[in-house]
Order: sequence, then structure tokens, then C-alpha cells
Amino acid sequence: MTSPKEIIRRYEIKPRKNLGQSFLVDQGIIRQIADTAQVTKNDIIVEIGAGIGVLTEALAQNAAKLIAVEVDNKLVGVLKDKLLKYNNVEIYSGDILKFDFGTITGNEQQKIKVIGNIPYNISSPVLFRLLSFRKVIDSFVIMLQKEVVQRLIAVPGGKDYGVSSVILQMFAMVEKILDVPAGCFYPVPQVESSVMKGFFLENPVVELADEDFFIKLVRDAFAQRRKMLINNLKKSKLLEEISESFLKESLEMAGIDGRRRSETLSTKEFGYLSNILKENQNHL
Ligand code: SAH
Repeated sequence: MTSPKEIIRRYEIKPRKNLGQSFLVDQGIIRQIADTAQVTKNDIIVEIGAGIGVLTEALAQNAAKLIAVEVDNKLVGVLKDKLLKYNNVEIYSGDILKFDFGTITGNEQQKIKVIGNIPYNISSPVLFRLLSFRKVIDSFVIMLQKEVVQRLIAVPGGKDYGVSSVILQMFAMVEKILDVPAGCFYPVPQVESSVMKGFFLENPVVELADEDFFIKLVRDAFAQRRKMLINNLKKSKLLEEISESFLKESLEMAGIDGRRRSETLSTKEFGYLSNILKENQNHL
């Protein structure tokens, strides 16, 4: 196999910072990511930001079908060149934030595995996009900035636990697989990276009355981390119509002491609280 550095040289690729282009050049790490994904002949893979196709090639050999999504036209050309020999690979030239995961599988049984070294400047919208398509996505193996992964997998009680941990873990089981030093990329980024793996749950940890409401509530609850939960909730636009006594009552119904800080609440507690507040608000 041609080495990543050779591909970059041969095609005279000038990495574009605004597209988060930092290519994996460490073959060992590429192998480890591919192994983590446990691709089988039944799997449909979507790779986010396929770049110069090094991970793509490592994955294509085992998959039923692989769709490589890449927004940079020049790289799409490289991918076409490189992956021509795999008839199970399709290249989607465009923005992952517009990519419709829903159109890929015809049947519910065959779900998608998402893999990618995500452009870090759009990691949050990418994660939300995956969440919105979770019905058709089985699992994901993604590389992100180390601190971002730290927050996504954090458990209650620590400084890393926050909005992104609660929201993702309401819908998915997640774990960190490995840290990847900056030297494994070209160009060498300013930040460290980690690979994480996640499975979307059949049902969320708590069946939510209103997902949008839940997401906004979690955001508002963490508006000022050092404050008590109740004080953050009092300031929430979402709960404007709810009186303080109603708010206290709702917290009591959810079995949560409003003097706690949000970082001590479990995903489940946020789910209960969201449902109760939503329900009480409906009865106003
Ligand atoms: N997976 C490759 C490249 C990672 S760099 C590797 O590991 O070597 C991130 C890649 O995502 C780049 O190729 C970049 O062009 C692409 N990209 C950036 N924004 C994108 C978007 N909105 N949609 C799809 N791909 C994007």
C-alpha cells in the first residue's frame, strides 16, 4: 500500500486548515481504528471526511458497502483514483452536514456504522447530525480532539462532565478507545486526539417527552457551572412561565435537590427532570 506521506507528495496536496485537514499518517493507528470498527461483510460504512483515503482503504476490504464522504473536490479526485478498484466503495462529494444517512439503507435491519477522523472545527454539528440519524446508525468510531472525547465520555461529578456528556449519553453508550499523539498526523496539529466508540441505544436512557426541550434544559442547567441547579433553572428562558414554587415542586417530584450543582446529576435525572418540567408546563 502506498504510504499516506507518498500520496500527499504525489498529488501535491496542500492541507487546508479551514477544512480541518490533518491527515493520519501513522499506519499503526490507521490499522487500530479499522480494527476497532470490527467491520464485517454485512456492514454499510459511512466514512466522514475520507481525505486521501488511507482509512477508507483499510475499511473497504471488509465492508459490504462503504460510502466515503468528502467535501474537498481535489481530495475527491484522489479518492476516485485510489479507490477505483473497490466496487463496493461509493464516493459522496459534499458536506457531511447535508448528507442524508436515511437514504442509504432500505431496511431497518441493516444499520450503518459511521467512521471517521472528523474535521475538528465541525465536531459538534457532526455529533448532532449523527444523533438526529440515530435510528439508522448502529455505531460510530470517530477521532476527535482529546478534550472533546474526555467530555463526551465523562461521568457525573467531575469537571469534564457537562452538556455534551449528558446529551450524547442519553442516546448512546460510549467509550474511549485510544489516545493519538499529534505526531501521527500531517500536518501536525496543535492538539492531541482520541478515538472513541459508541453504540446508539435502542431507546434513550429515559423515554423523553420532548427531546428539544431536554437538550435546551441541559444547556441552561449548565449555564453557570458553579451555581446551584435551581439558580440556573430560574434564569432559563425555557422555564420563563414557571413560577419558583412550581419549579421547586418539579424538582421534588424528580427527586432532585435543587441545591445540587448540575455536574452531579446523572443523565437519568436530567431525563426525569425534563419530562416533569415539560409535563408541568403543559398544565399551566
Ligand atoms: N480521514 C482522513 C482525513 C481527515 S482530515 C485521514 O485520516 O487522513 C478531515 C477531512 O474531512 C478532510 O479530508 C476534509 O477535507 C474533510 N472535511 C472537512 N469538512 C468536511 C465536511 N463538512 N464534510 C465532509 N468532509 C469534510
